[in-house]
Amino acid sequence: MTLIVQKYGGTSVANIERIKNVAARAIATHRAGNRVVVAVSAMAGETDRLVALVEGITHTYSRREYDVVVSAGEQVSIGLLAIAIEAQGCKAKSYLGWQVRFMTDSSFSKARIQEVEGEKIHRDLQAGYIVVVAGFQGIDNEGSVTTLGRGGSDTSAVALAAALKADRCDIYTDVDGVYTTDPRIEPKARKLDQISYDEMLEMASLGAKVLQTRSVELAKKYSVPVRVLSSLEEGTGTLLTEENATMEQVLVSGITYSKNEAKITVVGVPDRPGVAAAVFGALSGANINVDMIIQNVSASGETDLTFTVPKSDFRQALGVLEGSIGKIGAREIRGNSEIAKISAIGVGMRSHSGVAQKMFDALSRESINIQMISTSEIKISVVLDEKYTELAVRTLHDAFDLGKESGDHITR
Ligand code: ADP
Ligand code: ASP
Ligand code: MG
Repeated sequence: MTLIVQKYGGTSVANIERIKNVAARAIATHRAGNRVVVAVSAMAGETDRLVALVEGITHTYSRREYDVVVSAGEQVSIGLLAIAIEAQGCKAKSYLGWQVRFMTDSSFSKARIQEVEGEKIHRDLQAGYIVVVAGFQGIDNEGSVTTLGRGGSDTSAVALAAALKADRCDIYTDVDGVYTTDPRIEPKARKLDQISYDEMLEMASLGAKVLQTRSVELAKKYSVPVRVLSSLEEGTGTLLTEENATMEQVLVSGITYSKNEAKITVVGVPDRPGVAAAVFGALSGANINVDMIIQNVSASGETDLTFTVPKSDFRQALGVLEGSIGKIGAREIRGNSEIAKISAIGVGMRSHSGVAQKMFDALSRESINIQMISTSEIKISVVLDEKYTELAVRTLHDAFDLGKESGDHITR
């Protein structure tokens, strides 16, 4: 018997009608002769509401207690879905993360799954139940509730599929697949029939929120066949697969944007060994991840260090650096949180040059100033003023002809 894990996001369970629709879909899959496990998110807007309640008290809350609060939304949606499935004539049982042992580390609000015990679920499936599991949450080895970071239900679903050795993991959302860029920004975006794990990993980590990055990492690691599809219409969606020959022909396969970073410049530090270590040591001591880094040495022998940090850590990062300005020997710390990172991604870049040039040309034609640049084997990212985000995404989508079936192919 085929075992299928289905995941439904917030918009798919946004109200009672939608929950009934999800129940009908799970039942149809079950009645077609499959074993079905469903992972669900909280109803749309619910997690945001819970976060706002916490932040209404203080910005310096305990991460442990934050997880206790924000994990609550999923408890409601799993119960409602199980009730809806039973109301439509099928057996269903819901479980919270800790009940089916989603063991995680103790990094509250961004915990990583270490292990999922599948036994109880297998027993229920054997007995003919549709099993409904709360996404986004787990438990650490102290018994504290943890959450997996925003968008974490995708990761719960893929982890479940890997642990249960499922034949498929279908992620149902409010778009009918993975597109060349966010279809809400660029209506000309084109749905991809398939995408390699590596490209999806880059797209997710560079801002395409259709899948949480960690879910793609797990899918790749355990070779879980993942499909992204719409819960509101029929279709074949987008399949995540290993890279294949046709993919390498495409130079750029997607454009992403992220408004989740902020830029910091440490101005006027002496140009001598140990300075970068002092700056980044202070930040890593505060558990703050640094992304793009640029170092400029001026003629006077002074250095400016510019880098990006997650927006959620921006205030804390400024505080840490202000606190160690004397030790670093810097003149000034400057920050700017109104930036966006726009990236072009494609496995074809491995073997072909010219992508960066095309990107810079296209942006300059729109008079968009580039503040920072970073590249890796299969992506190029630029940082620019946040107000140009939409324009830059559309400009690059056009420049690489992503709206067309043929795309911007490599000529051999
Ligand atoms: P869910 O609640 O189902 O988890 P999300 O809101 O987390 O849904 O993710 C789906 C959204 O991701 C879409 O509505 C779309 O706006 C956005 N998105 C961003 N980039 C892409 C992309 N390249 N392809 C498809 N959707 C994208
Ligand atoms: N409900 C959680 C969130 O809003 C998890 C998810 O939707 O994947 O982030
Ligand atoms: Mg999501």
